Amino acid sequence: MLMHNSHDMIMRLNKDIRLSYISPACLQIFGRPPEEMLGRKLKDYALEEDKPLLTERGKKLFSGQTESDTSCFRILRADGAIRWVEVNTRAERDLKGNLTGHFVIIARDVTRHRELEAQLDALARIDALTGIANRRAFDEALERAWRGALRSQLPLSLLLLDFDNFKKYNDTYGHQAGDDCLRRGAGAVAGSAKRPADLAARYGGEELAVILPETDGTGAVDVATRILAAVRDLQIPHEQNPPGGGFVSVSIGIASAMIHDPAAVSTQAALVDAADRALYRAKSQGRNGLAMAPPILVAPKFDLAAGG
Ligand code: GH3
Ligand code: MG
Ligand code: MG
Repeated sequence: MLMHNSHDMIMRLNKDIRLSYISPACLQIFGRPPEEMLGRKLKDYALEEDKPLLTERGKKLFSGQTESDTSCFRILRADGAIRWVEVNTRAERDLKGNLTGHFVIIARDVTRHRELEAQLDALARIDALTGIANRRAFDEALERAWRGALRSQLPLSLLLLDFDNFKKYNDTYGHQAGDDCLRRGAGAVAGSAKRPADLAARYGGEELAVILPETDGTGAVDVATRILAAVRDLQIPHEQNPPGGGFVSVSIGIASAMIHDPAAVSTQAALVDAADRALYRAKSQGRNGLAMAPPILVAPKFDLAAGG
């Protein structure tokens, strides 16, 4: 009766790994009457992508390597909906404590839980002030882009931006107005990087960054030029910013890399460094403009000993 009334779905596996008992909660979780699944394998209902995980866990359980397992995977309900289930499987023992060769499974629907987790995950990558990607998302995206550039052998570019005379903006208009300005500026920057793979992020205080995968120096200059114009077009008054003609402006440092060396996986810091130095140059050249770092070529060393 307990099993019959349980909100969790309780199952038993035969020695041939087929379902020999299924409690009625099956109907809520799998959208199928228990009879329909009797004699089948649980794996039959998992999404294709998740089957390898189940195979791997099953091997360990059924060979006796482990006695219990908890796995999360997606199932396809009879109505076509996909649900996440958490499934606990344990080798059954009789009252004397001997293994019976059967298995007891408890499954529950954790879809809502997974959705909330995914939302939290997304929130953890968004900057609260500007609504664009935060530093954490930037670091992850740059790492991904670096690996992608190595795979595709296509150039990767990075822009680093800094608002001009922003201390004076805060001093003149107040910190709240400063925040507002950052928000609008970030929107203009994000709107200027148009490819789906491009990522605009808040890098630090009033510094933004744009990752441009599969983009060479010329393409990066195009995007940077668009950004300068987009910020100018916001026409946010900043009377203590002569370089912007009395309006808010930014300076942009650009760096591009071509990566041919698999050993260079962890040197994307060099790209950030180069963009940072270029930004410094854009500032010293008068602000409201851009500067380009010398191209970065990450090629494997020519190895004579190995025959070239
Ligand atoms: P420069 O043209 O050389 O960049 O001059 P700057 O005054 O902008 O110098 P810097 O980039 O070092 O200034 C950073 C200033 O930006 C410091 C701080 O007052 C302001 N700032 C940083 N983060 C925020 C923020 O989140 N909100 C606001 N309102 N201001 C910020
Ligand atoms: Mg700064
Ligand atoms: Mg600044």
